[in-house]
Amino acid sequence: MTLRACVAGAGGFIGHHMVRYLKANGYWVRGVDLKEPEFEPTSADEFEILDLRQWENTLAATRGVDEVYQLAADMGGIGYITAFHADVARNNVLINAHMLEASHQNGVDAYFFSSSACIYPMYRQNSPDVVALKEEDAYPADPEEGYGWEKLYAEKLCQYYREEEKLRTTAARFHNIYGPLGTYDGGREKAPAAICRKVASAADGGDIQIWGDGAQTRSFTYVDDCVEGIHRITRSDHPRPLNLGSDELISIDGLVDLVCEIAGKTLHKRHDVGQPQGVRGRNSDNSLLRQVLGWEPQTRLGTGLRPTYEWIESRLSELAPSR
Ligand code: NAD
Repeated sequence: MTLRACVAGAGGFIGHHMVRYLKANGYWVRGVDLKEPEFEPTSADEFEILDLRQWENTLAATRGVDEVYQLAADMGGIGYITAFHADVARNNVLINAHMLEASHQNGVDAYFFSSSACIYPMYRQNSPDVVALKEEDAYPADPEEGYGWEKLYAEKLCQYYREEEKLRTTAARFHNIYGPLGTYDGGREKAPAAICRKVASAADGGDIQIWGDGAQTRSFTYVDDCVEGIHRITRSDHPRPLNLGSDELISIDGLVDLVCEIAGKTLHKRHDVGQPQGVRGRNSDNSLLRQVLGWEPQTRLGTGLRPTYEWIESRLSELAPSR
């Protein structure tokens, strides 16, 4: 029997890759989003332009499917989510509350929710020399304002729907997903894409501007690992949110060095400490993920950054062939 899935947010970065993954695994897929994918056509069987803040639209999106992958959100890089707390929180709470209830009313069998490492308390992320975050570290809560609080509450909503046997929900906390076909300019891009763009645009021997002092640390997860992990977590039916991230910690300066190496360029770093830089340090503890799935993200940063850089570099050359 062919399984039928709805991917919400299928016009976005992870949603688009999720559709491709599910199609490759024999699913029938309906993609829904406010917009079509930006950089290549969708591989979904059906694609509907729907605003999922509207109740009727979530009922339409989730009709007649076995599984829902809820990847729609108003989000962006640190500049965006720190500037628009009210819009981000309101838009996302509407999407998540309606998607859960609509999936329940339509008798969906399995529901996946995309949470974020932004739910982890700020007080655990004050030093670049981080202790990796375990799932149980989420409480007492002190998440990122706006975006992080909404994600934490949506995790709770998923938990309540599961406990009352309305819907079999699973959830993952993504840690900085990157890869080809993601936003790389305009203000919503994340650090890896922004750095690839800056390195690709800079002349060898020139300058690169970095937000913060460059010592802030993160781990970055390749998008192919992310979509495989989403599918595995959904199949596992684990009742609580799981980290979905790489545990290969690197500073932002280290990330710049890695991208420069791939590009074959030497650039001088100029740090702008007036720009937002998010938490000081953050890493994923994958003990529980390994225990539940017997699997964790596989792709080394140096490996995943190469196709990411090459894709962004080729986009920039197409847009400005004379550069
Ligand atoms: P994205 O912005 O590329 O994709 C999100 C999609 O949701 C967009 O295409 C957007 O148009 C759509 N959307 C927004 N509002 C909508 C609405 N009202 N109705 C219908 N569609 C709407 O982001 P992404 O990186 O693909 O993220 C996917 C999910 O993963 C999100 O829930 C995000 O919060 C979560 N997440 C991502 C990361 C990351 O590093 N990319 C990290 C943590 C969590």
